[in-house]
Amino acid sequence: MLCLDLGDRDETLGWNAARNPKLRKGEGMSQKVIDLLNAARARELTAITQYMAQHYELEDRDFGKLASQMKEIAIQEMKHAEDLAERILYLRGEPTTKPDAGIKKGQEIGEMLSTDIALEQQAVKMYNEAAVVCSEEKDQISKRLFEKLLGEEEEHLNIFENLKDHIEKLGAPYLATLTGE
Ligand code: FE
Ligand code: FE
Repeated sequence: MLCLDLGDRDETLGWNAARNPKLRKGEGMSQKVIDLLNAARARELTAITQYMAQHYELEDRDFGKLASQMKEIAIQEMKHAEDLAERILYLRGEPTTKPDAGIKKGQEIGEMLSTDIALEQQAVKMYNEAAVVCSEEKDQISKRLFEKLLGEEEEHLNIFENLKDHIEKLGAPYLATLTGE
């Protein structure tokens, strides 16, 4: 019987095969975990695109302070997308480049914040569930990554909820504090 061990020469592994030469396809990795990491990455890509679009719109409407906050959060989401990609590559998966949803444009500030709150709430739910699955799949590193992201998404959620709350309670005088540089 011909038994061919392709090892690291396995062409089907693709360009990222070199990332973790010790790990062969199907060995020590969970497709379930890779799929969850990729679902999270697609979610991050949506958040990045949404927050950047809001950053430009707010800048345009002279809400410079709020615009900067959006930019800062968008950059944090970029780091999340990158952390997820690195973990996916380590597990010999292929990081997705596609956001999982379209973005909203031309919203009023209150509506923008509702959009963002929904995005963060979905991420929190998703990452909480993903951490449990990683644990079941005995992948503690991926679990820790989800937990780290979770903490930061909760912070984002808190920022957006506070902003929305202040705008609702204080109205125009509060909005005025979000303008300028
Ligand atoms: Fe994120
Ligand atoms: Fe977030």
